[in-house]
Amino acid sequence: MYVKGEPAAKLIIKLAPTGMIPTKDDTPHVPVTPEEIARDTYQAYILGASVVHVHARDQQGKPTYRREVFEEIFSRIREKCPDIIICATTSGRVHPQVEHRGEVLDLKPDMASLTVGSLNFPKYASVNPPETIRTLATLMNERGILPELEIFESGFINTAKYLARKGYLKEPLHFSLLLGSLGSIPADTRDLVYLVESLPPGSTWSATGIGRFQTQINAGAMLMGGHVRVGIEDSIYYNYPEKQLATNVDLVDRIVRIAKLLGRDIATPGEAREILGLKAS
Ligand code: ZN
Repeated sequence: MYVKGEPAAKLIIKLAPTGMIPTKDDTPHVPVTPEEIARDTYQAYILGASVVHVHARDQQGKPTYRREVFEEIFSRIREKCPDIIICATTSGRVHPQVEHRGEVLDLKPDMASLTVGSLNFPKYASVNPPETIRTLATLMNERGILPELEIFESGFINTAKYLARKGYLKEPLHFSLLLGSLGSIPADTRDLVYLVESLPPGSTWSATGIGRFQTQINAGAMLMGGHVRVGIEDSIYYNYPEKQLATNVDLVDRIVRIAKLLGRDIATPGEAREILGLKAS
């Protein structure tokens, strides 16, 4: 948490290279094979990304929960970026059953996403029933995995606080704030300030805007002392309204340049581990 008057912590840049939605038809730059995901992660790591938020795709490029695919992605990433923090998705948008969503947790990534509420996206719903959230939180606890609490609405923060009170989540908590998708909290600066001020004291957080809002919310987060998530998962375009297609490396490069202009130093993976309370790699 940013304390007014104190220098901000070094900036953690999270790369979200793939996601569930973009296909090669939408953009040739979205990495979908383990090799492509590892290649983009390495290029971002060289520029300063210290966390990679991983989604897996099958041979047809469709989202998959299968452990073997995640295993191959993780090992290729670790080969090139030995100390990067790996954060696996447990998204249930395509495969809602909790046993599928939790399969990747057996690989004990450093972190895993945990969406602590349900919402509508433009074309479908993201359904996360209370029992599923508790089960995934428990699996992460048992495996020593830090939950990346995905917040699409301010009410999700209340749920996170409640789960911490009940012992399902261990404080300090880490949040990923996602603003500006149709059906979630909008991506106004006041919305970002409101979410950040609602977090429990001592929490760490990153923020991203979806689509056209990616860079402005990233910049707002940097000014507020938070961390950022950037990548093709959140926006396939580099700019609006020109709609020039983005590459992951271009998106990370822009963040690094903005951070420099704003005077935020970039955290190495080792420094990011310290900020997040993770063990050394
Ligand atoms: Zn994701």
